[in-house]
Formats: sequence, structure tokens, C-alpha cells
Amino acid sequence: AQQPVTVTVTGAAGQIGYALLFRIASGQLLGSDTPVRLRLLEIPQAVHAAEGTAMELEDCAFPLLRSIDIFDNASEAFSGTNIALLVGARPRSQGMERADLLEANGGIFKPQGEAINAGAADDVRVLVVGNPANTNALIAQAHAPDVPAERFTAMMRLDHNRALAQLAKKLNVSVNDIRKLTVWGNHSASQYPDIFHAEVNGTTGAKAVDDQAWLENDFIPTVAKRGAAIIEARGASSAASAANAAIDHVYDWVNGTPEGDWVSAGVPSDGSYGVPEGLISSFPAVSRGGRWEIVQGLEIDEFSRERIDASVRELSEEREAVAKLGLV
Ligand code: NDP
Repeated sequence: AQQPVTVTVTGAAGQIGYALLFRIASGQLLGSDTPVRLRLLEIPQAVHAAEGTAMELEDCAFPLLRSIDIFDNASEAFSGTNIALLVGARPRSQGMERADLLEANGGIFKPQGEAINAGAADDVRVLVVGNPANTNALIAQAHAPDVPAERFTAMMRLDHNRALAQLAKKLNVSVNDIRKLTVWGNHSASQYPDIFHAEVNGTTGAKAVDDQAWLENDFIPTVAKRGAAIIEARGASSAASAANAAIDHVYDWVNGTPEGDWVSAGVPSDGSYGVPEGLISSFPAVSRGGRWEIVQGLEIDEFSRERIDASVRELSEEREAVAKLGLV
């Protein structure tokens, strides 16, 4: 039998945590042969609520779930962890300036990076979900100098899945008919979902659509602003779809992406496509041998160039802002 894998989830008592933990415990994160040990991190006032979720997890009698431990201390929570899902973050409250938001999140992601550096397993892989996810990942990475930088990633998979679903609906095809879609840049309204390289039944996404107005005025804003539309409709932010995307990202990272396809992942830039080195930006990515690789050599036309650059500029500004705060 396989050795258990230790998975740490922060913000475990939150909405996304509630949608995520049961799927991890049931085997959907790592596969149906892999036993799991869960370590949950919460702020002290939410520990009791996390205990409630843990009781429900116990009540599912999941065959793969070996243990559940709850902590309000990052060092303990990340001790021996193989997979760290950083979900808990400080949301932007009304009237909060961006610098304040970044500083508040620095107070969360800096100690978590340090704890990962000090105590996580050698093969630790980190996915940051909590927003601003790309820059929070950069902060954690900066405080984990002994962990290879490429192990810190930010979740762009929800944006990717949203784009897949919108394109499939427009073309009246199944999502299985679409390959090689990319969302570039930041997990924010500036993200750029690119259908020019996507393949749909023998042609490109852009040619299959053949409707520039739809692309510019419908598809791109619908994907980028989907989070707000869900808050408006549901009265709460998207949680199950965010949890689902986190599962997809880690499953693919560990098990590899399918041949002939790629996904979107927020990974440290090596300078590809003009994205400044070190920024954690979304790229077309494949996972091979347990590592993300940026897909190389795509031709970027002027329309895409402008949009990628705008989103990457925002990431650079966020990096400058956290650098000023001494966080990276
Ligand atoms: P959620 O579980 O709904 O969201 C958690 C984080 O995920 C937020 O930063 C949220 O960003 C982000 N997120 C990323 N993608 C999405 C998406 N598509 N839809 C919605 N959210 C997305 O928040 P809750 O408030 O329910 O729970 C957060 C929990 O985290 C609380 O229990 C809190 O106590 C805990 N927490 C734990 C910390 C720790 O462990 N040290 C630190 C801080 C908080 P956005 O705000 O932009 O929606």
C-alpha cells in the first residue's frame, strides 16, 4: 500500500475549505490509492468551527483518511507537509487600500513561508488560493529560501475552467473538444483568456468562434468578472468551483497533464513571453515528472500581447508594492 501523504489546508473553516476537505479526504486530490493525513490551520477564533468540519470528515468514514489535526500555529500545521493549500487570506474590506491589503496578507504569508521552509517535507508543493493569490505566493516563496522556487504556485485553474466552459457553450461543443486554452497573467480582472492557440475540433478557438466582438466584449469580460457575477447571484463568493480548481491543479501537478493538452497555472516566470523573471504569473503549462513546465514557442499576436502585458504590469506593480513593505 502507498505511504500516506500529508496535506495542510489553511483557512480550513472557511467556505472553500468546506468544499475542499471532503474531496481531498475522498481521494480526489491525489488518487484513489493514496491515503491522506490532513493538517488544518485556522486563526484561533475559527479553530472551533474547524473542529466541526473535522467531526463531519470523521463521520464520512473515508477509507483513505488516516488522520486530521487542527492547529492555530503555522509551524505545527506545516510540519512534514507534502502538499500545502494556502486558502485562508485577508479579504479586502470596504475602503481598504491595496497597500493595506498586501500588508495584511504579508502578515499571513510571510510566517507561513517561514514555517514551510523550516518544517515541510522535502518534496513540498504549495498552491496559493487566497487572494491576491499570485503575490501572496511570491511572499511565501520569498521566505522559504531552502525550498525550490518552482514549488510555489498560484491558482489560475478556476479562470482556466471558466474560460473552457464559456468557449464550449459558445461553440456548442463539449469541454472535452477543447485543448490548449490559456489564461495569462494575474488572477484578477486583468487576466487574459486566450483562445488563439486553443484547438477545437481541428481548428483554433478564435477561428471556430470567428466573432471578434464576442471575444472582446463578451468572452474576455465574462471570464474575468465571473467571480463578481457569482457573488451577485449567490450572495456568497464561489467556493465549490474554487475548491474544484484547486483539486484539478494539484492532481495534474502530481499526476501529469494529458498528452497533447495544457492547462493554465500561476508559476514563477523564467522570463518566457517577456514576463519578468520571478513573477508568479499564469502561463500555458504542462506537468511532467511532477514539475510544471511553461509551454514554449507560442506566437503571440498584437491583440494578445497588449493584454498579457497589461496583466503582467499589474503583477509587477504588486511585486513593487510588497518589496516596498519589505515582504519580498
Ligand atoms: P473563502 O473560503 O470563501 O475564501 C478564502 C480565500 O480564497 C479568499 O482570499 C478568497 O479571495 C480566495 N479565493 C480565491 N479564489 C476564489 C474564488 N474563485 N472564489 C472565492 N474565493 C476565492 O473565505 P472564507 O472567509 O469563507 O474563509 C476564509 C477562512 O480563512 C476563514 O475561516 C478564516 O478564519 C481563515 N483564515 C485563516 C488564516 C490562517 O490559517 N492563518 C489566515 C486568514 C484567514 P477573495 O477574498 O478575493 O474572495
